[in-house]
Amino acid sequence: MNRKSFIATVGEVYRNQGGGSFLCKAAPDQAGGQIMQNTASKWTFRAQGIGIYEDGSIDWDYSTGGYFQTDDQDQEEEKDVRICPVCEKEVERSDMNFTKDCHGITFRLVCCDCYRRLMAKGYDGEYHTEADEQIEADY
Ligand SMILES: [Zn+2]
Repeated sequence: MNRKSFIATVGEVYRNQGGGSFLCKAAPDQAGGQIMQNTASKWTFRAQGIGIYEDGSIDWDYSTGGYFQTDDQDQEEEKDVRICPVCEKEVERSDMNFTKDCHGITFRLVCCDCYRRLMAKGYDGEYHTEADEQIEADY
């Protein structure tokens, strides 16, 4: 049977090629894959490389980060979406990281993409020394 790579629609339930029904919980994001949930067991995971067959069933290459979701976690997840101060995209807290400045001091919380970009030079922000902060430092 033909299999095409596929992006699931958030809120839609799909039949898995190997059995079971899965609710799509999230659009693809920078971490790749999509959050899918088994409608029966609430097993929730990130499905990587989703494909769809001619009969409308889907499967995926592999999954990561699986856990059983409770209603509590559902609510908490909704609260835990932040705005990245650099790219101003909405990001889940779990996909964010604190950058460090040139002295290794926590600087700000940004998304993983911005973190990689900002920290590529080893620190976030401008390079500064103590001398920049204290005018006429005495030696
Ligand atoms: Zn960002």
